Amino acid sequence: MPPKHILAIEGGTPVRPVLLPYARQSVGEDDIRAVADVLRSAWLTTGPKVGEFEQAFAAFAGTKEAVAVSNGTAALHAALHAIGIGPGDEVIVPAMTFAATANAVVFLGAVPVFVDSDPATLLIDPMQVEHAITPRTRAIIAVDYAGQPCDYDALQTIAEHHHLVLVADACHALGGSLRGRPVGSLAMMSTFSFHAVKPMTTGEGGMVTTDDPELATRMRRFRNHGITSDHRERHEQGSWFYAMTDLGDNERLTDFQSALGISQLRNVPLWTERRRAIARRYDAAFGDLPLAPLITREEVVHAYHLYVIQLALERLSVDRDQVFRALRAEGLGVNVHYIPVHLHPFYRRRFGTEPGRCPVAEAAYERILSLPLFAGMSDTDADDVIAAVRKVLGAYAR
Ligand SMILES: *Cc1c(COP(=O)(O)O)cnc(C)c1O
Repeated sequence: MPPKHILAIEGGTPVRPVLLPYARQSVGEDDIRAVADVLRSAWLTTGPKVGEFEQAFAAFAGTKEAVAVSNGTAALHAALHAIGIGPGDEVIVPAMTFAATANAVVFLGAVPVFVDSDPATLLIDPMQVEHAITPRTRAIIAVDYAGQPCDYDALQTIAEHHHLVLVADACHALGGSLRGRPVGSLAMMSTFSFHAVKPMTTGEGGMVTTDDPELATRMRRFRNHGITSDHRERHEQGSWFYAMTDLGDNERLTDFQSALGISQLRNVPLWTERRRAIARRYDAAFGDLPLAPLITREEVVHAYHLYVIQLALERLSVDRDQVFRALRAEGLGVNVHYIPVHLHPFYRRRFGTEPGRCPVAEAAYERILSLPLFAGMSDTDADDVIAAVRKVLGAYAR
């Protein structure tokens, strides 16, 4: 076997013979039993489990209402529809996010206005939000990038001053909090995804939390074709009649997914603790490496959906892509979150969003990597991540 200190990309032995992914779901026997029970029951979709999941989730998030939908993109779509976003409107979104945040705006015929990040956290910069507001602005979507809640105090002040709706895309941050207030309760509406890589999963799935029952009613109607009663309610009332009052979509979550959600949700506090412990282990091990760490703000519980490192490129002899390839060769499933959304061909073509619009996000994009981090990782897995990062950055340091 070739020696261990030679980089795997140069023919050395990799730290991990099998790729360690950047995220992986945890599904236990309890989860499997919960799903199987529903599969044996009378209701596969829109039965009793949807409402049970919504109630459990609202209790967890500290809100009056939670509305279950088919995925995190549907959650954004339903939330923006509920506040009446449409053609002629502008919605402020961060450049540093997953494309779905902006896509939901475009689905409704509105224009996403991309705003730059705070370089210390890569969260949306409230000062830049203020600068981006025009007479057409209707809403701000804040994204809790990597799992850290945004500066909701500053954002809420701006939203109130300009009569805008503040929506939290909290897909990364379930389990986190800001000054003791749980993620989910920090904006007028907060959206979640239960895709397999997210903090908890229903395969595909999503949720919107809010304290406003009127918004919740609108979202429940929207997820069900814009119809005022669902199949189960009509069944129970012995009635065939329904009224479609608005254009809606089918964005429903099934009962067996909801059962999985109820079961998964119970583990979120424990899983968040585990993610945070691994993040602390990484923090402690990387202090002397050519990295520029992202800052965690005061009074924040970071949920660590992602552990993002920023390479100090001026202290390295190679670029991010070479570090990415070298870490992949060592068996780490590293990833890049995200390509700033305004740089995607669709946005450049449709909205003319050229490079230079969000310089902080664009510069960060050249330097970021997400390391493997999930609740089911062992300490040995985490130590392998540390060993591989130290090996690769040690070899490329200058
Ligand atoms: C995952 C994600 C979404 C979309 O969720 P899906 O369930 O995949 O539709 C939206 N925004 C952010 C920030 C996400 O990470």
